[in-house]
Amino acid sequence: MPTAFPDFRLGAVLATSFTGTLSERHGEAVERIPVPHRLVDWLAVYGLAVNSCTTAQLDLARDLREAIHAAATAAAVGDALPAAAVAVINDRSAQGRAAAILTPEGERRWRLSSASRVEDALGVIAADAISIIAGERDGKLALCASPTCRAAFFDTSQSRTRKWCDMNTCGNRQKKARFNANQRRSAESAP
Ligand SMILES: [Zn+2]
Repeated sequence: MPTAFPDFRLGAVLATSFTGTLSERHGEAVERIPVPHRLVDWLAVYGLAVNSCTTAQLDLARDLREAIHAAATAAAVGDALPAAAVAVINDRSAQGRAAAILTPEGERRWRLSSASRVEDALGVIAADAISIIAGERDGKLALCASPTCRAAFFDTSQSRTRKWCDMNTCGNRQKKARFNANQRRSAESAP
């Protein structure tokens, strides 16, 4: 029987969706890319299809993920960016050789230099992280309000008041917790 792996949490922003492949960082952490082929699956969802991935490439990916998480968290709270994280992001960006391709339909696609170049895909993710951390895109980095999550996410809402990294998971759980607490309170105060 094939082993079941945890589902991906798919967000609209590449870099912060990538950091979301490790979720519940302040609770019971869930690793969503535990083996190389899960990274292959994740990259395919984001238009960065590769046909293979080694454990060494998975390690590079996870290093980049943690570097983006550290830098984005610092940026969200206004701290100085951690130098080690910045170095990892820059290395991955510099070593990527993906080309942006415009399709006849006017869409952007990524073309990797070879189908085994996970490094090219990581370069695209690193460049995406740079653009949001550098404040070049319309939106604001913030931290998820869920105490077991605290993921950095990119808030593109009009009011910039989004509280959770993901409405379907963190947002729903918080709402349910509040609902249950209210139910308990009204039960206790009932005659
Ligand atoms: Zn969250």
